[in-house]
Amino acid sequence: MILSRSRDDQPEDHQMKKTTCAACDCELGREAISVKLGGKTVEVCCEECAAALKEADAAATAATTAKN
Ligand SMILES: [Zn+2]
Repeated sequence: MILSRSRDDQPEDHQMKKTTCAACDCELGREAISVKLGGKTVEVCCEECAAALKEADAAATAATTAKN
């Protein structure tokens, strides 16, 4: 019986990073939708998540603006 003494030889994260939905964290397939929020672009899995992100971003922007 061989116990693994080191984790060094375990392949970790050598695969391409999986992309997940910015809204619900589910894995993105080929149907990923890119949404521009402010200066950055995020990817979501569906239109609903895109709308949710946009709403959240708009609310955050509004809140920030209101404080001024
Ligand atoms: Zn999603």
